[in-house]
Amino acid sequence: ATPTAVMVATGVGASNGVLIKGGDALERAQKIKYVIFDKTGTLTQGKATVTTVKVFTEMNRGELLTLVASAEASSEHPLAKAILEYSRHFHFFDEPFDTKESQSNSEQDKFSGWLHDVSDFSALPGKGVQCFIKGKWILVGNRKLITENGITIPSNVERFVVEMEESARTGILVARDSAIVGAIGIADPLKREAAVVVEGLLKMGVKPVMVTGDNWRTARAVAKEVGIHDVRAEVLPAGKAEVIRSFQKGGNVVAMVGDGINDSPALAAADIGMAIGAGTDIAIEAAEYVLMRSNLEDVITAIDLSRKTFSRIR
Ligand code: ADP
Ligand code: MG
Repeated sequence: ATPTAVMVATGVGASNGVLIKGGDALERAQKIKYVIFDKTGTLTQGKATVTTVKVFTEMNRGELLTLVASAEASSEHPLAKAILEYSRHFHFFDEPFDTKESQSNSEQDKFSGWLHDVSDFSALPGKGVQCFIKGKWILVGNRKLITENGITIPSNVERFVVEMEESARTGILVARDSAIVGAIGIADPLKREAAVVVEGLLKMGVKPVMVTGDNWRTARAVAKEVGIHDVRAEVLPAGKAEVIRSFQKGGNVVAMVGDGINDSPALAAADIGMAIGAGTDIAIEAAEYVLMRSNLEDVITAIDLSRKTFSRIR
């Protein structure tokens, strides 16, 4: 393609909210063989919602939710946001309406006094969070987090988590010192265009793949809904780049689509990283394409644009 054709294509992309970082990236996109999608926030809306709260101890639901919200208050993860949102509503349910409104964002949460003081907080990517609250060691996250801390998951708790996972939800466990005190079921609906885009890619001869840190059961249930057959689950953030490299074997051109929280190594490893526009700055930096509208149809727009630009001239 002539420099002018590349410039025109870049302009057409930009006017559709598809930002392309250079002519090389534009050219490579026509050869994409695999598109690897992150699950949470990319295929799904990332607007996770708590659907179920289960208490496994003498605490009441409000106490459990305040505990979990306190632990998650410093996390940027969509699951953490869902838990905060739900707990905030639960906590302020009996308060006058304007009080409820004034508690409506996470920065204010930290100052408004309903959350417990937290110390030694850390977020463990792909696993959950941990901290001290009222002198007790609190873990909030998946099975891996719990079992790595030497805590056994009782069978009634395991049954609850399996029930969540089989209905495409994520089951989050809550441990206090070394006992499971609760569990939370969280649903995150697919983006409405996700299934159509997956079908469109297949028609173009491109293979869609889903990669996620979430567990196998939830991953399979979500993949089935969206029409993806090739799934990699329980992948830690660093492992996502490894997955990309395994698909690149034999010279395949691989695109990775991610929203950023933990996805930047994979976006950088891919031949074409596509960052979802609403994602984080590091993701946008690591990517060759930025899909500003956060609409997955733009993955197809991007490939089309490349194919059209570079096929005419050959
Ligand atoms: P994805 O690859 O789907 O974007 P992540 O790698 O971000 O998912 O997270 C994988 C899993 O780790 C989540 O499904 C959840 O079980 C657990 N997890 C990660 N962060 C948190 C958190 N802040 N609170 C609770 N669980 C978490
Ligand atoms: Mg994600």
